[in-house]
Amino acid sequence: MPDRPANTPPSLTVQLTIVFGTLVVLASIATTWILSDMLRGRIRADAGRSLIFAAAAASRTLANGLHANAAVVGMIASREALWGDGLASPEARRALELIEATQPTNLWVGVANPQGRVAASTRDILHNESVAERPWFQNGQRSLYVGDVHPAKLLATLLPPDKNNEPLRFLDYSAPVMHEGRIIGVIGVHTSWDWAGEVIDTVLPAEARAAGIEVFIFDRQGDVIYAPGGQSRRLADAGVRLPASGQAPGAAAVVRWHDGADYLTATSPLAAHDRVSDLGWTIVAREPAANAFAAVADTTRSALLIGLLTALVGSLLAGVAARRFGADLMRMARAARDVESGAPGARIPMATSSAEMQTLAVALSSMTRRLVDAREDLEQQVRQRTLELEAANAELGHQAHTDALTGLPNRRMFDPLLARALADARRQKRSLSVLMIDADHFKQINDVHGHAVGDEVLRRLTALLSTNLRTGDVVARLGGEEFAAILPDTDTATALQVAHELVTVIARDTRGLHGGVTVSIGVASCSDGLIPTDELLRRADQALYQAKAEGRDTARAYHPIE
Ligand code: GH3
Ligand code: MG
Ligand code: MG
Repeated sequence: MPDRPANTPPSLTVQLTIVFGTLVVLASIATTWILSDMLRGRIRADAGRSLIFAAAAASRTLANGLHANAAVVGMIASREALWGDGLASPEARRALELIEATQPTNLWVGVANPQGRVAASTRDILHNESVAERPWFQNGQRSLYVGDVHPAKLLATLLPPDKNNEPLRFLDYSAPVMHEGRIIGVIGVHTSWDWAGEVIDTVLPAEARAAGIEVFIFDRQGDVIYAPGGQSRRLADAGVRLPASGQAPGAAAVVRWHDGADYLTATSPLAAHDRVSDLGWTIVAREPAANAFAAVADTTRSALLIGLLTALVGSLLAGVAARRFGADLMRMARAARDVESGAPGARIPMATSSAEMQTLAVALSSMTRRLVDAREDLEQQVRQRTLELEAANAELGHQAHTDALTGLPNRRMFDPLLARALADARRQKRSLSVLMIDADHFKQINDVHGHAVGDEVLRRLTALLSTNLRTGDVVARLGGEEFAAILPDTDTATALQVAHELVTVIARDTRGLHGGVTVSIGVASCSDGLIPTDELLRRADQALYQAKAEGRDTARAYHPIE
């Protein structure tokens, strides 16, 4: 089995799971971001509109109140019939009490003479005191006057503190008292600043307060003069100023206030009816941004949660699908390795995870089958060829050592046979003889009868030699018409006798064969095998030469020449 490469990449399952998970998380983050941005814009518009309505309603109601209060004072002051009997007449006093009664927050109503002494007042408070230095008196001598909120001076000790237990502050209304075309006094009204809180409370619905919506009033200079929850004085002392919103008029914006928190904030200038009652206030409505945009945070959280869950489920599903693909691929890879290693019956399994995988499995399977078939064919052919080659080799070996015409061992084979026979004789200390046999005048047979007859005679000689020698003897054709025989365990006398018998048998048995043929034989022997092969052959040759010389058709044994 081949080794895996060292840097194996992560599995298909891991890769698909990561890719799907990341994709879904990114998609859900993007969607959530876009959604929450849209939602934030929508909420800013909706909540901002409510704040703008609240600020505008408070502004209109406050302006109406200022105008109405001033109008009452102005109307009473200019009613000549009231003042005919002087500033302190019972009728005048009734008028003062009437004014006080129009507003629960009207704490003091009085009238001062032209020198600034209080001629008459409700509950006789400040009677005969001098108010000549008070701005309401000085401004009220000229015309109808509305004085912005200010701390109580002379009345601070004479009246209880306001309902929030803050020091008394007043709004002043004053107007010149006219009689027969002359100013005979100044009428003044001190309204508790509680009035502003009550007006705003009537304007702001309970649901708005429950939602955390609050209304503030800032004066012409931008200092806070009214804050909800009895915070007016504390915030004024802390120097809280109109927050710089930078928003377009009529639109709400998220603004950071003095407490460091962000508020959705809307402002509205005081909708004054006339110059006298225009105190230059700015009415501000606010709602904590966290309140206003709580839905955005909730929605964002839910959307992200849904996104993460979707990512989780998506990743799991992708992982499951990838695991199925992976399992198919691994099965195919294992089967391919089995096929490669030639395991019996190995084949590519069918895939089930997808149509593509199935197509791949079918294609691989048929390819593998063809490869396996081709390999088996090849192996069969190789086996066949090997057998044929072995047979051819054996035949070639046989041919190399055998004479084609007679089937006898040739010279190449004879020499080692003789060497082995000599070695055996040497070992066993036995004698051994060699016959050298040559056809006589063979050339004539060829010349007279043709080469084919010569061949036939050679085959006949072969048959006669083979049948008339012992089984253990070896006959070989050394070349041409010359043969040799090895006669183991045979001494010279016996060998010579065998040679003569051969000469006789051949002459007799070939007589009818194209005039017959004779042979001459030379015999050489060794009693103990202690002689070189070529020396033994030379001696046999010499004996043959002698037989030829002595008339042919006979046999001679070797005799050393003296
Ligand atoms: P000698 O008695 O002195 O041996 O005379 P010879 O004619 O037998 O000897 P020589 O060496 O002169 O002639 C041998 C002849 O044998 C010559 C050749 O034509 C013939 N011969 C050799 N080999 C073959 C063979 O395979 N077939 C045939 N038909 N003739 C062969
Ligand atoms: Mg010869
Ligand atoms: Mg011859």
